[in-house]
Amino acid sequence: KLYNQVQDLKGSIRVYCRVRPFLPGQSSFSSTIGSMQDDSIGINTASRHGKSIKSFSFNKVFGPSATQEEVFSDMQPLVRSVLDGYNVCIFAYGQTGSGKTFTMSGPRDITEKSQGVNYRALGDLFLLAEQRKDTFRYDIAVQMIEIYNEQVRDLLCVCSFLCFSFVFLNVFDTLEIRNSSQKGLSVPDASLVPVSSTYDVIDLMKLGHKNRAVGSTALNDRSSRSHSCLTVHVQGRDLTSGAVLRGCMHLVDLAGSERVDKSEVTGDRLKEAQHINKSLSALGDVIASLAHKNPHVPYRNSKLTQLLQDSLGGQAKTLMFVHISPEADAVGETISTLKFAERVA
Ligand code: ADP
Ligand code: MG
Repeated sequence: KLYNQVQDLKGSIRVYCRVRPFLPGQSSFSSTIGSMQDDSIGINTASRHGKSIKSFSFNKVFGPSATQEEVFSDMQPLVRSVLDGYNVCIFAYGQTGSGKTFTMSGPRDITEKSQGVNYRALGDLFLLAEQRKDTFRYDIAVQMIEIYNEQVRDLLCVCSFLCFSFVFLNVFDTLEIRNSSQKGLSVPDASLVPVSSTYDVIDLMKLGHKNRAVGSTALNDRSSRSHSCLTVHVQGRDLTSGAVLRGCMHLVDLAGSERVDKSEVTGDRLKEAQHINKSLSALGDVIASLAHKNPHVPYRNSKLTQLLQDSLGGQAKTLMFVHISPEADAVGETISTLKFAERVA
């Protein structure tokens, strides 16, 4: 059964939707969610013609009560295919506050139960590698980078003090994306850390989050305006034939997709907004071209799509996870998120 599911996913692009619950203190009186099925949702909209419901379809919809475990178990076959040598990309898309980081990492005060996809995916790969240890030997290593204003930074460098001074001097230690390197690394200069247990992963995530916070202030949370990407590189050796296979998985927490009002922001914020806009639409263009089997796929238009070039298209598997907030005042962003999803499906 598992095998068939994996076969179904080959070369395909799937789009999932997750609806965040109302947060403590939020009034759940008026929700934008008018209806919800397994594979579609209806959004309440009001116009001068009166109220109506606009409906959107997905491969799967997770409602506000879906647990982290349920979400992960649905994508488990996709994650596991990395050990068979497939390349996989999982994206979290949505406006700031819609639950992207919750899905990928977990809440701020994380517990084992609330761990997100990143932890669960690695834990599951370790488990499966252990189960296959009589026939395969797997080496797993991770990289974690951030793309901010079209510049790539290493989130696993242990030089946080140095990075800190760089940020203040406004000189980022930026890395280059190079394709077709022999080892299959698109950012060969970012730290590549071998991991073999969930404990290793928890430590690394802490370091990554700490480094990501550098350059943010209370009023200025940079994490919502940069893309972060955890890349898992897998190399497997067949112990009988000696054949080697490689797979890689990118787990991407995208920058917030909200439109900023150009009349209200200037300077750095305007520049950031333009970079985010450009890279999210470049990602949308690439996935839409792949979904519609266009002969030309415009990978070169952003750092993000360059980084993921080898893992988008071909035999690679893509999961776009769009997040929406239920609040009535987010309805504009919710509709534009769902339209993005509709375009790439
Ligand atoms: P984003 O990364 O999209 O900006 P967050 O993941 O930080 O959004 O989520 C915003 C807030 O909502 C956080 O406090 C988070 O813990 C909470 N939250 C998000 N999704 C869920 C969920 N499915 N269940 C419970 N709380 C959630
Ligand atoms: Mg976030």
